[in-house]
Amino acid sequence: MSLPLATSLIDGKPDRSLSGHTLEVIDPAREEALCALEEADEAAVDRAARSARRAFAAWSAMGTDQRNDILFAIHDRLIAEAEPLAALEARTTGLPVRNLAGLVRRAAINFRSFAEVASTLSGETYVQNPDYLTYVTREAKGVAGLISPWNAPLALSSMRIATCIAFGNTCVLKPSEYTPQSVLRMVELMHEAGLPEGVVNVVNGRGQVTGAALVDHPEVDMVGFTGGTSTGRAIMAAAGRRLKPSIMELGGKSAAIVCADADLERALDGTLAGIYASNGQQCLGGSRILVQRTIADRFIADFVARTRAIRIGDPLDPATEMGPLAYAGHRDRVLSYLDIARAQGAEVLCGGERPAGFDKGYYVEPIAVLAKDNASRVCQEEIFGPFASFLVFDTIDEAIAIANASDFGLVAYAWTSNLATAMRCSREIRAGTIWINTPMMRELRAPFGGYKDSGTGRDGATSSADFFTELKTTSIPLRDVALPQFGAAPPI
Ligand code: NAD
Repeated sequence: MSLPLATSLIDGKPDRSLSGHTLEVIDPAREEALCALEEADEAAVDRAARSARRAFAAWSAMGTDQRNDILFAIHDRLIAEAEPLAALEARTTGLPVRNLAGLVRRAAINFRSFAEVASTLSGETYVQNPDYLTYVTREAKGVAGLISPWNAPLALSSMRIATCIAFGNTCVLKPSEYTPQSVLRMVELMHEAGLPEGVVNVVNGRGQVTGAALVDHPEVDMVGFTGGTSTGRAIMAAAGRRLKPSIMELGGKSAAIVCADADLERALDGTLAGIYASNGQQCLGGSRILVQRTIADRFIADFVARTRAIRIGDPLDPATEMGPLAYAGHRDRVLSYLDIARAQGAEVLCGGERPAGFDKGYYVEPIAVLAKDNASRVCQEEIFGPFASFLVFDTIDEAIAIANASDFGLVAYAWTSNLATAMRCSREIRAGTIWINTPMMRELRAPFGGYKDSGTGRDGATSSADFFTELKTTSIPLRDVALPQFGAAPPI
């Protein structure tokens, strides 16, 4: 039986690229092909970019009320379709469907939130020179090339799209070639909710083919990227050659500091969720867990006991807490860090085997190691899987120093009941978001993004408006001010 075909979506319709190159999309729980993905070649990317350019004139000129009616309708349509969308995403990513209810809701809320932000944008006026009125307006910037990863396709692609189109821009999105289906379905639903053709186009294919053609396309004015740091570097360099501004949401190796004075039951729940939610495949994972020495033995023992009890299973089973990793190569890479850990003197505390009863699927028992020091590769490199690296500290100065001794700076977690310790973590840790006594609280309008190798720019109300709009200054004299009069003087 031939596989269903997933294509690109241009001008609101499936597009048949003539590249002839197809990729199999694999169900990570069953290791079976789910669909054949037709790769968009340069010609298809060109059609998509031109479609977005054509749509830009009307979409950017639309009043925010009218545009917001469409964005709110998209929110409602996605909420109404949340269950089938979550099931589709669970099937392709391996993420447990119980997590996805929240992530699909997040996808819908992204459209509503940024519509609200766009409708409250205002300009500026200046009267430094009283003979003039000078005012500043914001205008949509143009066509964006948006690129998203596989670890939470709906939540992350919708964030890229919503922050872009809410301010009147149009776009071409390239989702990950590993998990294209749920995003394709979401964009179909957006059209059913009234999105005009061409405002959001989707091109499918590999990063170095379809993604690279998109970043380089002359009709693409700016680039929004969520993905790995090395890919981000390559994309930013390519965008820079054409002077295209780019926003980069990249990787992390975030510290979770557990102080002896913390509510340790909550800290245990929070650090487990911080590393193992979404199968451990999350940029904001608290993958370096720093525990104060006086409580370390007990805390780590409790953590390992809970880790061993995590329910691994089919992503579509609502009881499942952890599904398979996204694809075979990724599973192998995650497991390769066990040997790296041992070679650098770490103690493997649990995990790393294929769980009993699973002959198929990229399943891995969640892993925890006690690292020798923060310089170890398991404390410095993003593993992006269910792999917790423990370190022990004595003083809060030491914990903050360890947290900062990283090339990354996406988020940090601190678990403490001491206000001064919490405030010091907030002030002194160099990361874009600090979560005190909570795992992963996303406030969509607050800036989110990374320091250092974790990215440049921020998503959020003000920061997205700044990235996705151009500022224009207009000056008008209020009376006939004296003008220089070249050529009007009598001849000498
Ligand atoms: P990746 O960098 O391999 O791929 C991301 C996307 O970029 C994919 O769509 C891919 O096809 C595309 N791509 C790859 N090479 C390209 C090129 N040369 N030109 C254009 N596009 C190209 O990342 P991934 O493995 O899909 O995702 C995991 C990474 O994403 C992790 O590092 C994770 O931390 C990061 N991430 C960051 C955030 C954040 O908000 N900071 C959120 C989620 C994931």
